[in-house]
Amino acid sequence: MQTFLALFVVLMPLSLSAMILPAERTVPGGIALVPLKTLHDAVPTVTFNGSRVAVVEGSEGLTAVVGIPLWAETGKQWLDIRWPSGERARQSFTVSSKDYETQYITLKDERKVDPLPEDLERISRENAVTGQVLSTWNEQPPDFTLTYPVEGPISSVYGLRRFFNNQPRSPHSGLDIAAAKGTPIRAPADGTVLYTGDFFFNGKVVYLGHGQSLITMYCHMDRINVEPGEHIERGEVIGQVGATGRVTGPHLHWGVYLNGTPVDPGLFVAQERPRSWPPRARGPM
Ligand SMILES: [Zn+2]
Repeated sequence: MQTFLALFVVLMPLSLSAMILPAERTVPGGIALVPLKTLHDAVPTVTFNGSRVAVVEGSEGLTAVVGIPLWAETGKQWLDIRWPSGERARQSFTVSSKDYETQYITLKDERKVDPLPEDLERISRENAVTGQVLSTWNEQPPDFTLTYPVEGPISSVYGLRRFFNNQPRSPHSGLDIAAAKGTPIRAPADGTVLYTGDFFFNGKVVYLGHGQSLITMYCHMDRINVEPGEHIERGEVIGQVGATGRVTGPHLHWGVYLNGTPVDPGLFVAQERPRSWPPRARGPM
């Protein structure tokens, strides 16, 4: 039985010849699909900026699916590749520039713009937890074909440079979908619940792992219906839209992460509706 299981695990990548990859966009906040040279029919461990990168095998061979941080510099970037034999290699890809639009948001709750000292302590604890969750790796082959978790208009696109009450803050690292409080949030693909919590900025939050380094995040929820460790199937309700955390109104902030970095969720969704909906400058965020 053990032999059979071992064989199954070894042969599994061969069944991925029909693997659908996300759209490639080699810009900050985008995705690079980097073909890897094959060595001894083995699958290497690939890292980018110290974080492990998803590697899938298709009919064309091995491909590294790399999340490019919003803060990445343009030009040549390098992947570190380590083969099971111990051999090492580096491989490059090129990042082009992209200008993201600027968004100005007015918040009534000043504390969510200039947190109090006790808030800052909480925020730094929560950032540490988030870092841990986002570095989770599981050996399941990732499913890159995501479906929108909520029906509704996109109220803030990914990557916007942001000002809260005229103060510069981090760029928008996900996609905001406007929906009424209580609207069900559905898993965009099969996965495992990695973490649930209630954070200062993100409000009630759920993280799902979908294989290797592909992780999705759901923020500002009103209710959470799942628990860490649970297996979730595509379409299953994981909770409800709310207005918890730093918000101007009820909406879902949907984050999609590769190798620990937030990338544009639109790159994973089939073209069932236009991706570049005009962002409303003062809509819910
Ligand atoms: Zn958002």
